[in-house]
Amino acid sequence: MNLSARIFIGMIIGAVVGLILNFMGNPEWSETWLTGGLFHVIGAIFVALLKMLVVPLVFVSIVCGSSALSDPKALGRVGGKAIGLYLLTTGIAVTLALTAAIIFKPGVGANPTAMEGTQVAAGKPFTQVLIDMIPTNPVGAMADAQMLPIIIFSVLLGVSITLSGRKGQRVSDWFNDINHVIMKLVHIVMHVAPYGVFALIANLAATSSAGDFLAVGRYILLVFAVLFLHALVVYPTLLVTLGRLNPKTFLWKMRAAMMFAFSTASSNATIPVTLETVQDRLGVKNRVSSFTVPLGATINMDGTAIMQGIATGFIAQFYGIELTLAQYLMVVVMVIMASIGTAGVPSVGLVVLAGVLTQVGLPAEGIALILGVDRLLDMTRTAVNITGDAAVTTIVAVSENAIDLDVYNDPKAGLIHDGDADDEPGEETRVLENQS
Ligand code: ASP
Repeated sequence: MNLSARIFIGMIIGAVVGLILNFMGNPEWSETWLTGGLFHVIGAIFVALLKMLVVPLVFVSIVCGSSALSDPKALGRVGGKAIGLYLLTTGIAVTLALTAAIIFKPGVGANPTAMEGTQVAAGKPFTQVLIDMIPTNPVGAMADAQMLPIIIFSVLLGVSITLSGRKGQRVSDWFNDINHVIMKLVHIVMHVAPYGVFALIANLAATSSAGDFLAVGRYILLVFAVLFLHALVVYPTLLVTLGRLNPKTFLWKMRAAMMFAFSTASSNATIPVTLETVQDRLGVKNRVSSFTVPLGATINMDGTAIMQGIATGFIAQFYGIELTLAQYLMVVVMVIMASIGTAGVPSVGLVVLAGVLTQVGLPAEGIALILGVDRLLDMTRTAVNITGDAAVTTIVAVSENAIDLDVYNDPKAGLIHDGDADDEPGEETRVLENQS
């Protein structure tokens, strides 16, 4: 059975087991041994395994990708296109969200039972985000898994390798070998994913309360609706118009990565899987994806922007505050900037929302209204976030002639099966081609 199918089964069994425990009121034995014990440990180990891969993978992969570009100008072009498209998709996302909030008014007459006194930390100012992009200590940035500084350092190192002639070539060969080994490690970790996903979903289903969801039901439905609209209409439209690609193939091949993102609620932790998917399943060359995927996981958060747009409308309506057109525009700009500063880890979108609300003069405490239900939305929006990263990566790859369309169109390309962790014949050549 292939990996996506196994992960899906893990998810369904997890949901069923969790719901059964939930209906039983999550009794003490289950709390001690399952939700606070076995499920918790397996889920946490799985997420830790994924996170373990992120820093080495991003570093090595970007060094390989940027050193494979013989012309450093190409890097600027790829970066420019990717950043432009990331901003565009986030802009579309938040505009859709605000429009939906204005039309459907989820906050009018919302039931405030979910509201409890909560403290919300403020996000970083945008200027600081810019300054912090440059690592004063690259090792420190890696130790703290700070994505933007790691990306900047790796790109600069890759460019220097290209400019270093024969000596650079030796270093580049070494990095390519390491990259191959790390991708192998990614495959190994992906084999335990079904169990990890099972544990994460079972825990969530066992410990969520239905009451929280009812109080803000219209908000939840609206966020879901716009998330689906964005993933199933906006990305496919961009893929067709800008990339001339079949969007069904894209969405179908992305399903395993989406399930990873959904279960971990972290774009960063999902980077290894997103990268694996766009390279092996969609045929994008490493020289584009190594750079655009980690960058997207850090600065491109369309799902988060959708939640923030609707939440802003929801909170304004709840407090009976009419926003002016200028304030709406302010929200759009703030959400796009916040998306750049939002790290791809669970729940930060909500923290950053506090900054957006304060900027437009709305009470940040309003976040307490939606806090109780945020986890499920966080999971779903993270799946949209990484789908956006992959869509933009694929479109940029088409424009850079860095995609193998035979791989893209082959439904079986790059599928991981049971017992696949060993080298397959021919694999070596594919990986090497991928680097070029
Ligand atoms: N969890 C999201 C992500 O990692 C960020 C957020 O919206 O909180 O992409």
